[in-house]
Amino acid sequence: MTLEELEADAKLCIACRLSERRRNVAFSDGDPFSPLVLIGEGPGDNEDQQGKPFVGRAGQLLNKALIDAGISREQVYICNIVKCRAADWSTGKPVNRPPMDDETEACRRWLVPQLGIVKPKVILCIGAPSAKNMIKKNFKITAERGKYFPCEYAKTAIATLHPAYILRQQNISGDGGYSLLVADIAKAWEAAQRLLSGKSMSAPTVRTLRLWSPAYLSCHSRKAFATLLILSGELK
Ligand code: URA
Repeated sequence: MTLEELEADAKLCIACRLSERRRNVAFSDGDPFSPLVLIGEGPGDNEDQQGKPFVGRAGQLLNKALIDAGISREQVYICNIVKCRAADWSTGKPVNRPPMDDETEACRRWLVPQLGIVKPKVILCIGAPSAKNMIKKNFKITAERGKYFPCEYAKTAIATLHPAYILRQQNISGDGGYSLLVADIAKAWEAAQRLLSGKSMSAPTVRTLRLWSPAYLSCHSRKAFATLLILSGELK
């Protein structure tokens, strides 16, 4: 199946309640051949209107951060954990809300094959909800952002702060974590380029390296662990 076919099917999806009120399915944007995939939580009002992820205020900040990190939006592939807007309609007017677990679960039918087709080298999770879905349930965004983790759908995954969170923080003080977002994007891109250039992953060397470590134990394979070591500069 091609990405176009998958997207066409996703546009007809009625697997969860989010389909009832959506205007558009925000399937993806950017380069499907990119080694780096950015995954956010889910579309908001602007994304629902335009049928594309990250096109509102948070998306504009993300675009700026990509440029400050030395790349552009067109060089990465962007999508969300859920493809339809989650909103509370109880007051008659939609108010964005986090997607519920059953909505996230239902939308895996699109996300998993999407990642299977794009085959990213690196996944950059945008915000804690994405990291909790893609990396581990108990992910702690402030303590664990910017670090490499094993991931089922890419060679490695990194998480960063959500631009919407940064916008809220900026109202309070300073850059709100913007420089961290830029640094994490740059790190993820560099890792993706490194992996794309086919850095060898000499798995046997790993045997001599901390096989007892929690990181090793949480990896699916020795190869995944070797990738983490290469990326963290411990294995050249
Ligand atoms: N926030 C997200 O997580 N995704 C979008 O597409 C827009 C805002």
